[in-house]
Amino acid sequence: MSKAYPGYAKLIAQLEESQHLSAVRRGFLLLLPLVMIGAVSLVLGNLALPESLIRGPLHAWQGVFLHAGDAVFGLVSLCLTMTVSHSLAAQRQTDCCHDVQPMMPAIVALLCFLVLVAPFDGNSEGSLFGPHFVFPSLLVAIGATEIFLRLAAGRRSRWGWIAHDADPIFPGILHSFFPAFFTIGVFLIARLILGLADKPLMTLFENMLLALFDPLQSGLARALLFNFISQLLWFVGIHGNNVLAPIEQHYFQTAEMANAAVLATGGQPVEVFTKSFLDIYVFMGGSGTSLALLVAIFIHWRGSNQNRLARVGLAPALFNVSELAVFGLPVIFNPAFLLPFIVTPLALTIISYFACASGWIPVVRESLNWTTPFGIGGYLAAQSWHGAILQFFNLFVGVLIYSPFVRAAQKHTFKERRRDFQRLLDALEESCLNQHSGILERRDPVGSQARRLANDLRYAVSRGEIQLMYQPQVDQRGSVVGLEALLRWEYGAFGRIPPNIVIALAEEANLICRLGDWVIDEACGQLRQWRSEGVARGVVMSINISPTQLNEPGFADRVLLILSRHALPAGAIELEITESRTIAHNETTAQTLEQLARSGIRLAIDDFGMGYSSLLYMRRFVIHGIKLDGSLTREVQSNPSCQEIIRTIAHLCRKKNIRIIAEFVENEEQRTLLEALGCSEFQGFLFSKPLPPAECADFVRSRRSQAVSKARQGTNAANQRRLGGYRGDGLRISADPISSRA
Ligand code: C2E
Ligand code: MG
Ligand code: MG
Repeated sequence: MSKAYPGYAKLIAQLEESQHLSAVRRGFLLLLPLVMIGAVSLVLGNLALPESLIRGPLHAWQGVFLHAGDAVFGLVSLCLTMTVSHSLAAQRQTDCCHDVQPMMPAIVALLCFLVLVAPFDGNSEGSLFGPHFVFPSLLVAIGATEIFLRLAAGRRSRWGWIAHDADPIFPGILHSFFPAFFTIGVFLIARLILGLADKPLMTLFENMLLALFDPLQSGLARALLFNFISQLLWFVGIHGNNVLAPIEQHYFQTAEMANAAVLATGGQPVEVFTKSFLDIYVFMGGSGTSLALLVAIFIHWRGSNQNRLARVGLAPALFNVSELAVFGLPVIFNPAFLLPFIVTPLALTIISYFACASGWIPVVRESLNWTTPFGIGGYLAAQSWHGAILQFFNLFVGVLIYSPFVRAAQKHTFKERRRDFQRLLDALEESCLNQHSGILERRDPVGSQARRLANDLRYAVSRGEIQLMYQPQVDQRGSVVGLEALLRWEYGAFGRIPPNIVIALAEEANLICRLGDWVIDEACGQLRQWRSEGVARGVVMSINISPTQLNEPGFADRVLLILSRHALPAGAIELEITESRTIAHNETTAQTLEQLARSGIRLAIDDFGMGYSSLLYMRRFVIHGIKLDGSLTREVQSNPSCQEIIRTIAHLCRKKNIRIIAEFVENEEQRTLLEALGCSEFQGFLFSKPLPPAECADFVRSRRSQAVSKARQGTNAANQRRLGGYRGDGLRISADPISSRA
């Protein structure tokens, strides 16, 4: 679709990036709890209970729920003005208006809304705040916030001096006074102009809508036009049903009342297109027949965020609350869904009309609440199973219409996300080098992708997507002396994300401490299990930590707690701190390092020799081990300076009784040379890649049995040498224990 119409795709892309629309979406999302509470109240208030139960206390409770539902929906416009304004101001806070508390423009927008739409006669009767005013409330929220923020950003705050002895937000609030008064003034003038013309905003808008529908004579045509406009509005992020409420009232609710009046006089009602008819047979799950969309996503888009949201959205959709599906998925501004989103309700309107015209279902006689659940609604509307069957049939048709679009959207989204994802990985790779890249604040596809990834990272552990692998570290004889725990994140269809990128992202998203704690706990739990099985006796578990963790108060206590929970001594683990990241020079970090050292927890400097701080760190902390960086060990065979540096470091380590491990050991010659230069322990693909726990346990076991058999061979060889130097099979026995590795 987007290939065929590049201009259209560009427009959609621009709209997606629009701060106003994202504020509208957020504003609605923030209202979800309110809408859900209102919907649940209405459901409970309208439950069709047996007569015996309704009399008595339950009757009173139903009344309470009904009132609560009405009250909640009566607040929709007021709350929406605030949530949209707040969302817009919060987005702008990072760009321009640092001082302005987002709550200030939200309050101002609320006042502007009241100034603009409050009835002249002062008789609001509660309708002032109801869903009818959703559209004006969106306009007011955006307009008032824009005026306010522009005024606030254009003036330098003169109140900074107050901050010395007041709450830090106080100067910002004082700074908001002028923009607040001015913005409200603008809306007051607008109201006066509207008042003088004696055409309040809503009346104007309603008249425009009615003029559009008036020429249509047939109920079917009206219903189709109503659905078409409503869906288009939803698609651009506007609550279609609420905006078209005047039309709904004028035609479909009037038709419902007409049916009731005819019924009361003993006649046969004839109006097909009533509000309940559309709610029950067409808007199943809410606008766009969202229930059908959710089911299609549930069937076709497995293992995705969309699928998870669809599952969450199914429950409210069964009660026809669609906001979660429409704003959360998101459907709005998603060109892939435009066609089915509009076509499905139109198709179902026609099918339901013919079902009624052919006599399969009767005209809906009574008014049913829009929250009446799927299936039950059909039964109650038709007073027979025919109604429920029609609902299921319509759902089936809806799923059929949505399915190809959902599949296409899945492919398209995946392709786009793959592209953005690669860009994100490149950007994050860079940010691994520059601490804090601000990638999460970026307002481009990479930023959106980064925020989505960060959000997924938040739940990745609980979803079982993050695991640890273990890479063995061996001594000169080839026995396993240590294991390094390395994090692995399998990110659905995108595959594995490199751990240094995961760590950089976790740092940016403030998740590093939570993730780090999980790594330590998981690695200790694994070591405990191996020790209990007799696999890893005496083996030290190396765990990578980030400098941010050291700078978090209570880190050392938490490590000690984890160790005691797994009944491990402090010396069972070694914390690796990479030299490529700066360790903060402050009180908290110093205390943490001291406490760790005092408790007997080993510390190692990872990637030693990569940065400039190696020797400085050796002076600042008690170091138990260093791990030579790959840049030194990889070039050791070809670069005499690397050899010199390694020899010097090894000498220093021997003097200071520090364990030295050479990383990235990939071939035998490299290992022999590193050993000759003074390295005593090795880690690298020559011995093993990082392994999943079960394979790692096998590796440790096999190494141990090799060591035992070598020891035996060593005894036999000594005996044979005594007897003549050669084994019976004519082979010379290798003096190097590692060259005979599996
Ligand atoms: P690192 O701690 O220096 O880990 C060694 C990295 O080198 C690992 O990459 C390992 O798979 C790789 N490696 C080991 N031997 C060889 C070899 O012979 N050849 C080659 N080409 N590579 C080898 P990995 O697992 O991708 O980890 C990258 C970095 O991510 C780690 O470097 C560490 O800084 C960070 N990291 C991994 N897990 C964690 C974690 O749980 N917490 C923190 N803070 N950082 C972690
Ligand atoms: Mg490491
Ligand atoms: Mg390293």
